[in-house]
Amino acid sequence: MFNSFSRHWTVPVQKVKAHVVESADLSDRDRFFKVGNDAADEAAKAGLAAHPQATDEQQFDLAKKIRVAKAVCLLAARLLPLWPRLDLSGVELAKAPGKNAAKKVGTELHEWEWCRSYWRCSVCLKIRRPLDF
Ligand SMILES: [Zn+2]
Repeated sequence: MFNSFSRHWTVPVQKVKAHVVESADLSDRDRFFKVGNDAADEAAKAGLAAHPQATDEQQFDLAKKIRVAKAVCLLAARLLPLWPRLDLSGVELAKAPGKNAAKKVGTELHEWEWCRSYWRCSVCLKIRRPLDF
């Protein structure tokens, strides 16, 4: 992220109180920070305005999609524990491939492909657990 030129483009940042109201009680230091913060706010708003903004319809549509996605996640979180776990105890064991293993192995009629944590035949969809083939 940073290269040898980064030091020429970085400046120290100091966090200051935001939205300070002008008052005679402000110290010179606080007034200095207020002016700087106000300028930063103005520049940020100008930067935001320079980008295309979503229409009300687009924002409504996005909010609706987010609500639906959250509802689906909540539903899945509640339903998945009720689902029976996949039982592979009766499934034949097959060895997991190394990093450089070929995509397909075997000489049978099956076309074995490594699928995350088990072998699956791309022809008949039979699966084998990872152990010796
Ligand atoms: Zn097969």
